[in-house]
Amino acid sequence: MESNNHYDAIILGAGPAGLTAGIYLSRARMKTLILDEGTVGGQMVLTHEIANYPGVESISGYQLASIMKKQAKTFGCDIKSNVTVHRIELEGEVKSISLSDGNSYTSNSIILTPGGRSRTLGVPGENNFKGKGISYCATCDGDFFTNKEIIVVGGGNSAIEEAVSLTKYASKVTIVHQFDHFQAFEHAIEEAKSNPKINFIMESAITAFHGNENLESADIKNLRTGETQNFKTDGTFIFIGYTPNTGFLKGKIELNTWGEIVVKNDMSTTIEGVYAAGDSTAKRFRQVTTAVGDGTVAALAASNYLNELKVKQKQSITV
Ligand SMILES: Cc1cc2nc3c(=O)[nH]c(=O)nc-3n(C[C@H](O)[C@H](O)[C@H](O)COP(=O)(O)OP(=O)(O)OC[C@H]3O[C@@H](n4cnc5c(N)ncnc54)[C@H](O)[C@@H]3O)c2cc1C
Repeated sequence: MESNNHYDAIILGAGPAGLTAGIYLSRARMKTLILDEGTVGGQMVLTHEIANYPGVESISGYQLASIMKKQAKTFGCDIKSNVTVHRIELEGEVKSISLSDGNSYTSNSIILTPGGRSRTLGVPGENNFKGKGISYCATCDGDFFTNKEIIVVGGGNSAIEEAVSLTKYASKVTIVHQFDHFQAFEHAIEEAKSNPKINFIMESAITAFHGNENLESADIKNLRTGETQNFKTDGTFIFIGYTPNTGFLKGKIELNTWGEIVVKNDMSTTIEGVYAAGDSTAKRFRQVTTAVGDGTVAALAASNYLNELKVKQKQSITV
C-alpha cells in the first residue's frame, strides 16, 4: 500500500506555472502536491497591478495568486509553502524529495517551476522604489510611463530592444551603460541610435535612487571621471540579466549556459517523468500568461505519462 506521502505528481514552485499545473493535474484526479520555498504566488505577488492577463482587465498580483491557489485547492491539490528542499532524487519511476523540516515525499512525476529573478543593481534606494518607479519588465509596466521621462539601464540585447519599445510610451528614454560600447546586435543598436527619443549616457553607472513616495531622481556616476550627477527621472527600467532559481538542480538535470532548464515542446526534460515550466526554462518571453501556458502543457504531458505508467504497472502485476 502506498503511503500518504506518495503523490502522482509533485510540483516545485507555486508561481503561476506551478499553480496552473496543480489545477490541471488535480482536476485530472492526479494526487498532487505543490511545494514552495517562499509564499504562494511567486513573482506575481511582487506585482502591484497586472493589466495584461486576458479576461481580467486589472488585478493585483496578490489577488490573482490567491484565486489561482483557491482554484487548485478546490480540485484537491495539496500546497505547502515556506519549505526548503533538502534533497531531490529525479531518476527512476519513483522520485523523492526530502525537506529540511524532516518531511519527505515520493511521486511518479515531478514538475519543476522554480521561476527566477531579474538581476538588481544593488544600490541604495532600489528596493524602496521597486514598483514605485523602478521596474524590470517593459511589457508589464511600460504603459504606466506614458509621456514620462525614463532611464533604461543596461547594454545587452534586452536593454536596447526594450529601450526602443519603451519609446512607444515615454517621451524621453535615457540609456545608462557602464561601458563605451553595447553588447547588443548591431541592427538593434542602430535602431536605438536613430530613434530621436533615445539619449545615451555611456561609461556610467547608477549609484543611488532618490524620491519620496515615488522615484524622482537617480545619481549617475561617470566611471571614467568619477563625477556624479543627480538626474531627474520618472522611472527606471533595469535590464542587466536574469537568474533562474535552478542552483539546486545543478548536476541533476540538463541546464543551459545560463542555468535555464532545457525542455522539449511538451515541457519534458531529459529525465523521464520530469517536466519543467515557466520562467526557469530556456525561453525568450517571461510573463504570467506564458508561465500559465507552459504549466498547462507540462501538466497535460505529465498526466499522459502517469496514465501510461499506471497501465504499465497494472500489466506487470497481472503477468
Ligand atoms: C515586479 C514584477 C512585475 C511583473 N509584472 C508582470 C505583469 O504585469 N504581467 C505579466 O504577465 N508578468 C509580469 N511579471 C512577470 C511574471 O510575474 C513572471 O513571468 C511569472 O510570475 C513567472 O511565473 P513562474 O511560475 O514561472 O515563476 P515565479 O513566479 O518566479 O514562481 C516561482 C516560485 O517557485 C518558488 N521556488 C523557487 N525555488 C524553489 C525551490 N527550490 N523549491 C520550491 N520552490 C521554489 C519561488 O518561491 C516562487 O514562489 C512581473 C514580474 C515582476 C518581478
